[in-house]
Amino acid sequence: TRPTTHWETSVGARAFCGFQDCFSRLRSMDPVRIAVVGAGVVGLSTAMCVSKLVPRCSITVISDKFSPDTTSDVAAGMLIPHVYPNTPIPTLKQWFRETFDHLFAIANSAEAEDAGVHLVSGLKGSGVLILTRRIGDLWELHPSFDVVVNCSGLGSRQLAQDSEMFPVRGQVLNVRAPWVKHFIRDGSGLTYIYPGTSNVILGGTRQQGDWNLSPDAEISRGIFSRCCALEPSLQGACDIREKVGLRPFRPAGVRLQTEFLAQDGRRLPVVHHYGHGSGGISVHWGTALEAARLVSECVQAPRTPTPKSNL
Ligand SMILES: Cc1cc2nc3c(=O)[nH]c(=O)nc-3n(C[C@H](O)[C@H](O)[C@H](O)COP(=O)(O)OP(=O)(O)OC[C@H]3O[C@@H](n4cnc5c(N)ncnc54)[C@H](O)[C@@H]3O)c2cc1C
Repeated sequence: TRPTTHWETSVGARAFCGFQDCFSRLRSMDPVRIAVVGAGVVGLSTAMCVSKLVPRCSITVISDKFSPDTTSDVAAGMLIPHVYPNTPIPTLKQWFRETFDHLFAIANSAEAEDAGVHLVSGLKGSGVLILTRRIGDLWELHPSFDVVVNCSGLGSRQLAQDSEMFPVRGQVLNVRAPWVKHFIRDGSGLTYIYPGTSNVILGGTRQQGDWNLSPDAEISRGIFSRCCALEPSLQGACDIREKVGLRPFRPAGVRLQTEFLAQDGRRLPVVHHYGHGSGGISVHWGTALEAARLVSECVQAPRTPTPKSNL
């Protein structure tokens, strides 16, 4: 067991005001060092939202995997309203609307095509540092960082000791079929054809508790024949690539919560932001804004002098 104690506070009880006072207090201080663990859609959007909401901070994204090797790269990328347990409908609507508005603005901009394929490019222009590293324990980031945001998806099973987290495996085919312009989804949502900017995603599977990241040829044949039954012209599709992703499921829904890790009288605020299951693309911007507000609250708290960095 880890000699770390935890105090938790939930999002619902918080008031997001008084940032101006806090920032004028911070003006005379060093920049706040913020680590975002995870480089999927949740981690990268959180880094962007924090860079907008928290002035005078340095942001480092630390992850063992980056695009194209995250679950987020496998997602079909459809915006579909999702229901998360323990999350009030108005909050779900807000997350979805903020995400929709954000992506709609991008879709209507000159960057539309690039944004479809390169989530990371906008972040580097904002001065966010990128570090490839596997984190074994969030406390490793003390004292190098003042605030940590945990966006590690399924990695939170270990990093947040959240044994409730489990994978729902999804296998899809990424094919070239530029004539397909409309999406088709069957009633169960298990068979779908989603055209993207250049390719078409054919799906899929929902295999609970399956950690296997290798494609299964038989499943691929099944997906292809189910999709061809819905859209026979797909028989002419080429460049067929198999993809597998593990949706980060959390039965209690998305965890957006501040936890204070402590050891030997030293504290490290951690904002948890994970557990998006099958809806991360649909709500990522809304939940990232919420996470950035929690980071702002941590920044408001009086800071103690930090010992020398280990990183
Ligand atoms: C087949 C499929 C189709 C989907 N379709 C859709 C869709 O149409 N619409 C939709 O809204 N959602 C969809 N989803 C769900 C969506 O992909 C997920 O909800 C979303 O990608 C989760 O994002 P994330 O950033 O939390 O996780 P991830 O993308 O898994 O990112 C986690 C990051 O944390 C890093 N990490 C983990 N542990 C550690 C550690 N110990 N140290 C350092 N780094 C660590 C990883 O390397 C990775 O960079 C789909 C998913 C699948 C599999």
